[in-house]
Amino acid sequence: MPEADKTAIFEHLESEVRSYSRGWPATFTTASGSWIRDENGREYLDFFAGAGALNYGHNNPILKKALVDYIVGDGITHGLDMNTVAKRELLETIQHNILEPRNLDYKVQFPGPTGTNAVEAALKLARKVTGRESIINFTNAFHGMTLGALSVTGNSMKRAGAGVPLVHATPMPFDNYFGGVTEDFQWFERVLDDSGSGLNRPAAVIVETVQGEGGVNVARAEWLRALADLCARREILLIVDDVQMGCGRTGPFFSFEIAGIQPDIVTLSKSIGGYGLPMALTMFKRELDVWGPGEHNGTFRGNNPAFVTATAAIQEYWGAGSTLPEETLAKGETISNAFTKLADKFDGVSTRGRGLVQGLVFDDAENAGKVCKLAFDEGLLAETSGPSDEVVKLLPPLTVTNDELDQGLRILTSATEKVCS
Ligand code: PMP
Repeated sequence: MPEADKTAIFEHLESEVRSYSRGWPATFTTASGSWIRDENGREYLDFFAGAGALNYGHNNPILKKALVDYIVGDGITHGLDMNTVAKRELLETIQHNILEPRNLDYKVQFPGPTGTNAVEAALKLARKVTGRESIINFTNAFHGMTLGALSVTGNSMKRAGAGVPLVHATPMPFDNYFGGVTEDFQWFERVLDDSGSGLNRPAAVIVETVQGEGGVNVARAEWLRALADLCARREILLIVDDVQMGCGRTGPFFSFEIAGIQPDIVTLSKSIGGYGLPMALTMFKRELDVWGPGEHNGTFRGNNPAFVTATAAIQEYWGAGSTLPEETLAKGETISNAFTKLADKFDGVSTRGRGLVQGLVFDDAENAGKVCKLAFDEGLLAETSGPSDEVVKLLPPLTVTNDELDQGLRILTSATEKVCS
């Protein structure tokens, strides 16, 4: 088939809304571990990992076996929120491997199987519990595309897509927004105190500990602690959106663990299903569980094959004595070292990140896109993020080998040298 014919149907039939296929003009067929292949047999190192949905790599053999056995055994595929054995095993595994060791007394809600749905559930619950409407979000936040989640998302292009007013959300400066010039919560505390500020008393604050889509902006542990403290003092609920940074992306299972805080509500999606299967969770402190039966529902809350791979992933990677967090931090350090060399070498290049989410930041935003394009030509998938797409963001699978990491970093280093020299 001529190359043009291979993409004709996408151009003819698929909506103009498609985006990743434009940056990576290949047609993919198979994948394993850190590698993805196109139909011409070309292999690419995947340092995008399903935007963080593939922390354990493509078609992880341990998870695949659990999934295949379950399907071959005619296990329940679609279950709404009925009790199933697969769900029981998942809940037991979450309790034993995740919640109990961290002293978290959370209840677990299964919303629709996407990150944005977990966020919608979190926002609704916070409003129902407090009887208040207003939510505080942060500059450059990303929480999803449905209207509630979009109202607490910063990106102006995405917000404009709503077509209706996005209300009841007030942005505050994320950590280091003013480059250390203004004290961290000076503005926030002031408007909370001032009855003339125009800020309605908020139900909740929603925060990412590292803003992935917003440009790999890393909140310091002390900033997160101060935020949790402020919320507790003011009886405002704290929601940590761990959709992208949870499941070990920054090292520990929950990204907020480094700050020693216990958010009131936590959202998880992307890698919680383990295998890239759609699944999401909204977790919250037991006393916040004021939902009525079916008050937040959805047809696809019971994606049982995802429960099976989620259970297998948590048992394999998050049991007692798991070394995954340390390995993730060590691999993150490898990327950070390579990026620091580039930042030292070239003006207008800097680096930031935590664990296996690392960003190479370009003052000249166009350079980030150029680096990603050259990297793709050399067989590496990496995406840009940030308000001007000025950051090359790396999210390799946590299971990436050191050799693969070195190989990917060689490609990125040479691409950056070409673009910046
Ligand atoms: N929250 C965060 C922090 C995210 O990064 C994303 C997705 N990039 C979402 C929510 C939305 O998840 P989904 O695309 O599955 O709706």
